[in-house]
Amino acid sequence: MKAQHQQQIIPQTCPVCDAPRKYLSYVPLVQKSIVHITCKKCSGNVLAFLSHNDIGTMSVGIVTDLSVDEAQKFMSSESVDFDDVLVLHEISMCNGLTIKDLLQEK
Ligand SMILES: [Zn+2]
Repeated sequence: MKAQHQQQIIPQTCPVCDAPRKYLSYVPLVQKSIVHITCKKCSGNVLAFLSHNDIGTMSVGIVTDLSVDEAQKFMSSESVDFDDVLVLHEISMCNGLTIKDLLQEK
């Protein structure tokens, strides 16, 4: 995706408080198809997902509480698959623990 085209679909105002671009910082993640946007005025964070196909280019933004560092860490970590979920369920059942209990253990 060309940089100029990306600029046209990335939000130019804060999706949370409508602050102008000068308050926003943009950090590209995952081959520039996801952009983390932070607003210096309201401290809001947004992840903008960019995609391009035969129909055209679009972006979808979601408000998040992830900082840019947390988003980078999250995006570079391995995804959870069905086997991981089944193992977690099996461990919880064998030990009489809830999934919440297991996730809080350190
Ligand atoms: Zn804002």
